[in-house]
Amino acid sequence: LAVKGVQALSPYQPGKPIDELARELGLNPDNIIKLASNENPLGPSPKALAAVRAGLDELCRYPDGNGFELKQALAARFGVEASQITLGNGSNDVLEVITRCFADQESEVVFSQYAFAVYPLVTQAIAATGVSVPARGYGHDLDAMAAAITDRTKLVFVANPNNPTGTVHGAEAVEAFLERIPARVLVVLDEAYCEYLQGDGYVDGVALLEHYPNLIVTRTFSKAWGLASLRVGYSISSAEIANVLNRVRQPFNVNNLALTAAAAVLDDEAYLQRSRDVNAEGMKQLETAFDEMGLSYIPSAGNFIAVDVGEQALDINQSLLEQGVIVRPIAGYGMPRHLRVSIGLPEENDRFIESLARALDKRQ
Ligand code: PMP
Repeated sequence: LAVKGVQALSPYQPGKPIDELARELGLNPDNIIKLASNENPLGPSPKALAAVRAGLDELCRYPDGNGFELKQALAARFGVEASQITLGNGSNDVLEVITRCFADQESEVVFSQYAFAVYPLVTQAIAATGVSVPARGYGHDLDAMAAAITDRTKLVFVANPNNPTGTVHGAEAVEAFLERIPARVLVVLDEAYCEYLQGDGYVDGVALLEHYPNLIVTRTFSKAWGLASLRVGYSISSAEIANVLNRVRQPFNVNNLALTAAAAVLDDEAYLQRSRDVNAEGMKQLETAFDEMGLSYIPSAGNFIAVDVGEQALDINQSLLEQGVIVRPIAGYGMPRHLRVSIGLPEENDRFIESLARALDKRQ
């Protein structure tokens, strides 16, 4: 009964929840660590928690469908107009709304091999044609992506940094790419992990908006801002594009707890910096361990890293699960030798490394 695009669709595969693994293997949930969904290991910001508690009394009310306060806070932070912002139930929601607004069955949508799984999913859901462009190494081949544009192309997705590879393009490369894209094609620059870029490595899509009216930047509160469960993401674009997106999104797509927590956490610069610091240290910890174990990995600009554990990656993953460690196999991304592990707290990273060493030993 399903319509054309939906028939062949397979659902997005999320990281295994802790309770599910506990039930499956009879493990104590308190002894399980989850490094599978690029979540923030710090727990939520105290400012966000306080805002959520204060917002509980309003559960009987509809949220502000226009997200006035949060848009004001975002606009002030990024130096844009509130009318340029579209809020979503996670940035996934925004990605889906963008696709529905600007592509249809006649369209082509361009993304990279190994790019975030939601791009092909939202494309297929509307029966548009997904054009997966071979990667260069594991990163986006931006030249090839620009060359893949045809008269039918409506949208191009670029994740920067990309998930699950962690690869990133610098500001110059992104700008050179945008120069090559015709104005009639929209470019979605997905910056879900941009807060982890520091210093010279920072690439700011929002700064490019004035020069490229066909650009849409998407971001999220799920990663460095630590609010994955609340589901808040947003796009910044021209006001014209935002106006279209706001016509199609669900009227109350972001709930009041999410709105209030997101606005509160934007004030918690210390939390953001701690997120970055813990991530940078944890990344070093894992890289050092992988080097010592002789495992190759893809240098990552995100809060996760893809490590090559060999052909038996699924067996290694099973052994990790039995040891109460959840990471993410990424065979579904065409990377059957890699496991993607999110950066945890130092003790979680240690536990993962020890469990991985045991899993690799067992294999020999
Ligand atoms: N973009 C990328 C590249 C991601 O990795 C993710 C999270 N897995 C998202 C978007 C969506 O995140 P959310 O819906 O939680 O904002």
